[in-house]
Amino acid sequence: MLIFAFLTIYFAVYLTECKKQNPSIVIVGAGASGIAAATKLLKNNYTNIKILEAEDRIGGRIKSVKVGDSYVDLGGEFYDGSKDDAVWEMVKDLGILKDRNVDYKIISDGQEIDDENKEKLIAYVISFQDEEECRNLRSIGECFEKTYASLLQRSKSDKETRLLEKSRIWLKNFLSFIGMSTNINDQLLKSYSKQSSSLHWNGHGYKTVLDVMMQKYPDITKQLPIDDKIFLNKRVIHIKGWKNDTIKIKTDDGSRYKADHVIFTTSLGVLKAKHESIFHPPLPANKIAAIKNSGFGSLAKVFVFFEHELDVRGTLHCVWNKQDLKLFNWLKNLVFLIVDERNPKILNGFYGGKGVTLIDTLSDEEVFKGQKYLVSKCLTPKFNVSEPIKILRTSWSTNTNFLGVNSYVSVKGRYNEKLAETLVATGGKPSILFAGEATHPYYYSTVHGAVESGYREAKKIIDFYNTP
Ligand SMILES: Cc1cc2nc3c(=O)[nH]c(=O)nc-3n(C[C@H](O)[C@H](O)[C@H](O)COP(=O)(O)OP(=O)(O)OC[C@H]3O[C@@H](n4cnc5c(N)ncnc54)[C@H](O)[C@@H]3O)c2cc1C
Repeated sequence: MLIFAFLTIYFAVYLTECKKQNPSIVIVGAGASGIAAATKLLKNNYTNIKILEAEDRIGGRIKSVKVGDSYVDLGGEFYDGSKDDAVWEMVKDLGILKDRNVDYKIISDGQEIDDENKEKLIAYVISFQDEEECRNLRSIGECFEKTYASLLQRSKSDKETRLLEKSRIWLKNFLSFIGMSTNINDQLLKSYSKQSSSLHWNGHGYKTVLDVMMQKYPDITKQLPIDDKIFLNKRVIHIKGWKNDTIKIKTDDGSRYKADHVIFTTSLGVLKAKHESIFHPPLPANKIAAIKNSGFGSLAKVFVFFEHELDVRGTLHCVWNKQDLKLFNWLKNLVFLIVDERNPKILNGFYGGKGVTLIDTLSDEEVFKGQKYLVSKCLTPKFNVSEPIKILRTSWSTNTNFLGVNSYVSVKGRYNEKLAETLVATGGKPSILFAGEATHPYYYSTVHGAVESGYREAKKIIDFYNTP
């Protein structure tokens, strides 16, 4: 009994003492969630912060690259929100978001398919999961198999049947791409979202959101004192003693840091692969289960550059014949192509679905050859497009700092809130806080979800010190 009383007094004194200081906070990762957390802390006068970032740049899965006088996005590209979130609040009055051209064409055998079939295929992608026959099914894959079979049965002609048969892989990859799942048999059907935004950053790049958070845009003179708190090329390899007062952090270059709180923001892919080696003591069993059971998928983008502007706008879909894919089988993962609105000399290809990560392992030369073939087969016959001159491509799944693109809800269940749960030290202090897109209860897999998660975790620390 005496020991219990002593411990209670000890922890009360400890917390009061601790709350008197400007606590030290280490943020692991300078992506959208890490920058959001840091800026919220700074605005609330928590200045003793360090952001440790493994890459040689900030932004994480936001990667805007300057091409000519505008930016292309190798990572997050479209504002996918519903205008009720933190990103929208930040940029709504800046006049930089622009509606995207939503025209689309489906090309098969070098020719555009007719409007009736085109609309049927796209309507299927949008609403296949509403079909009665999917009511008791768990995965997108199961629902696809049933509804695709019905679609074939309803076909009105041999020509339509041939088109539907050819479209099978493309449709599967499309569904996979929308859900980011890479494997539609693993994605929970109920999590499939029809919502797709058509707002883009009009050549400013999604990085603008980072600049707005850091108050570098629109008026650089108002910027927050954040640059000297960001440490690049610092990959965190150990986080020790999270149950204790002081947490010890080590990076791969041998640097060591101490902190009262750590906000951990890496991708779910990184957590899956590295949580055992990073956290000492290990994470609690229910956190590990949440990490294992949550889905993390991938996609690839290839930007194709031309000498001249393309005489085509909007989105293009290419539906392949089997023999078209003999040379470059990975082209089957192409979901769509978008002509860059600010720079119509660039065609942005989006690849998804099963096997998409193979593209990340190919050489630049192989991918370039594949793009020349793609253009010659799908675009040139209809649009008279010349040969591409170069490419720019992504490799998110092979980069050890990401190991994929985005989280999704797997058939094993929804674990976003469990992923977000804070690890508390023995004395009651929030010790390791988890932010990042995968921790958002409903805006997971988006930039606005990541930003809100960073604000949420910073607020937990602020509230802790504001509570008497
Ligand atoms: C190709 C692609 C297209 C996308 N399209 C869209 C879109 O159109 N719209 C949309 O809203 N979202 C999109 N997204 C998703 C969106 O970009 C992400 O959800 C969001 O940027 C994730 O932010 P985050 O802070 O959670 O994680 P991250 O951006 O991954 O930030 C985590 C940071 O941690 C760093 N890190 C990793 N390991 C360590 C370590 N051990 N030590 C230190 N640092 C480490 C990483 O380098 C990274 O900078 C897309 C993503 C990709 C990749």
